[in-house]
Amino acid sequence: MTRSTTQMLQIWNPATGEVIDALPADDRAAVMDKAHRAREARVRWAATRLEERIATLARFRKLVAERVETLAKTTTRETGKPVTQARNEIKALDGRLAFFLENVAPTLAARTVFSDDTLEERITWEPLGVVANISAWNYPYFVGSNVFVPALLAGNAVLYKPSEHATLTGLALASLLHNAGVPESAFQVVVGGGHVGAALVEAPIDGIFFTGSHATGVKVAEAAAKQLSKVQLELGGKDAVYVMDDVDVDRAAEATADGAFYNAGQSCCAVERLYVHESVYDAFVEKFLQTVDAFVVGDPMDERTYLGPLTRAAQLDVLDAQVDDARAEGGHVRRGGARLDRAGFFFAPTVVTEANHRMRLMRDETFGPVIGIQKVTDDLEAAALMRDTPYGLTASIYGQDQTRAEALLATMETGTVYWNCCDRVSPRLPWSGRGHSGLGSTLSTLGISAFVQPKAWHLRRP
Ligand code: NDP
Repeated sequence: MTRSTTQMLQIWNPATGEVIDALPADDRAAVMDKAHRAREARVRWAATRLEERIATLARFRKLVAERVETLAKTTTRETGKPVTQARNEIKALDGRLAFFLENVAPTLAARTVFSDDTLEERITWEPLGVVANISAWNYPYFVGSNVFVPALLAGNAVLYKPSEHATLTGLALASLLHNAGVPESAFQVVVGGGHVGAALVEAPIDGIFFTGSHATGVKVAEAAAKQLSKVQLELGGKDAVYVMDDVDVDRAAEATADGAFYNAGQSCCAVERLYVHESVYDAFVEKFLQTVDAFVVGDPMDERTYLGPLTRAAQLDVLDAQVDDARAEGGHVRRGGARLDRAGFFFAPTVVTEANHRMRLMRDETFGPVIGIQKVTDDLEAAALMRDTPYGLTASIYGQDQTRAEALLATMETGTVYWNCCDRVSPRLPWSGRGHSGLGSTLSTLGISAFVQPKAWHLRRP
């Protein structure tokens, strides 16, 4: 858990529960000052040639690749993410950076949409101006860079507010961006807790790109409405998987267990609910439990660890309450079900079978290492249960028959659907949520266009 005072932000190690650092936090006046400096910086950065901005971000990519080990350890210390998974995230960032660097020029190229002897009509793209990038702690490299990289490439100045639980990582990224040549005023870190985020969305900015919970997202959208700034929200999920009767049980159980427990279940697209056809239910549950039993839980700095602590102590109460409620509603807690008796914010990997939709475990975001498994009799029941949520981030089906799976996936009210995979993000595809999962898209070329506004040219020839 990290707590801020008016002056200092304390950084906690979730694996030990100890304070490991303290940083000066911004107050409202400092946030306004940074916003004004960004407004001035945006003019020169926007006027820099696109080729130069691309070369600058390419240098950033190289610097990140050279510092994987140091960055991974920094993130593990403050978030508790197992160091192997922190390393994976930083290495995978390279693919996202490559995508943006290759695609920004074609995406932002001017387009002549009409031309004859007397008239030309053309569209060009201009940066939004100053972008506030309010980020979550669970994948600080991915969710941060999905915004600040295309925003900077497109010529915006960025005010980056890392989560208070991933501030050291945010500052490390800022230092690499500055070393790569991004002017200090064009990329500034805003340091502090939620109140600093609240001050930032009231500062003079042109776009707010927020990653976090639905509850905070609503507050951010209200603040954006007051100054009519563009707003994008990447929010939580209650991501469902349906395991069909014709499935390869072992492969599906192993893959979905990983989808549920990777990063201690603290992923927006983590598997949060499993619906399993009755004909394969027992075999699936058995293999799923075997897979969970093999997970190594422990010190996140240890290379063998698969499951570390939760990043936020407060989430332990949420998990306790969901497990108690699931028990009361008839769930069988087959593994785990409680905090671990050790220092730090550890919760045992928990599997609840015989789950049903009276349980909060199957309706509210869990965001931890707890999964509910419910038996279903056919595709229609599975599809109805999958849609029974206000969230709309991802939905997944495991089975052999592609036509049958695609027909069901087409009925899902989610931004992303998966066949025989889950908990997956690609830089080439848009990442978007519906309903309580958000507004707008990051990644893909849509996630570049999000940071520009069109200018329409009507050119009548003399
Ligand atoms: P929060 O909503 O608690 O916080 C998100 C960010 O907003 C943090 O930087 C936080 O600062 C800041 N903040 C808090 N209050 C305000 C406010 N009033 N105004 C402006 N900013 C504020 O979410 P978490 O960081 O706990 O992230 C977990 C959530 O993020 C989950 O619901 C998860 O599903 C979702 N998520 C969604 C993703 C997606 O792609 N759809 C990706 C990753 C996560 P501070 O932390 O300092 O309090």
